[in-house]
Amino acid sequence: MAKLYFSYSSMNAGKSTILLQAAYNYRERGMEPLLLTAAVDERAGKGRIASRIGLASQADLFDEDTDLLAHVTAARAEAAVDCVFIDEAQFLQEAQVWQLAAVADELGIPVMCYGLRTDFQGKLFPGSRALLAIADTLREVKTICWCGRKATMVARLDGDGRIVEEGDQVVIGGEDRYVSLCRRHWSKRQLGEAPARDDETTD
Ligand SMILES: [Zn+2]
Repeated sequence: MAKLYFSYSSMNAGKSTILLQAAYNYRERGMEPLLLTAAVDERAGKGRIASRIGLASQADLFDEDTDLLAHVTAARAEAAVDCVFIDEAQFLQEAQVWQLAAVADELGIPVMCYGLRTDFQGKLFPGSRALLAIADTLREVKTICWCGRKATMVARLDGDGRIVEEGDQVVIGGEDRYVSLCRRHWSKRQLGEAPARDDETTD
């Protein structure tokens, strides 16, 4: 049975690197992966998945109207599709996650989704909510906060490096940056070592 996988993390954990490495491993074994990424993500240019360490690959684009079962069915009519990789899976709609489940269940093709678990306000993305609900296998891609703890949260910073509290879940073409923090430092809005205080105990 082919499975639906969801690998989730906070920002800058190297999800795209892991996706591209896994796709490379498929190709090396003579199999053909089909790569897709969200049309909202313009960082890598149109139809391309790129990692921060320099790996890149061509990819098809999906937006909220893409029927992913139809897309994979059409792609498979043209060429072999042995596995489907989805980057920026947090941007999937719930119905699209069910379409990917059908790719696994009806077409027998494994689907590997990679995405963020929560937004900068600590709320689940729609795609991540659906994947956490119905994926066969969940994997956490770990990264660390500046303090060394596991970073599970994402903070949005404005152009001046200040934490943004309000706003849309997705900002396209803004100056915002994102950092990963542990829950404790996300809750305290603390982006780095604070000056030592007398009343603070170390733990
Ligand atoms: Zn921390």
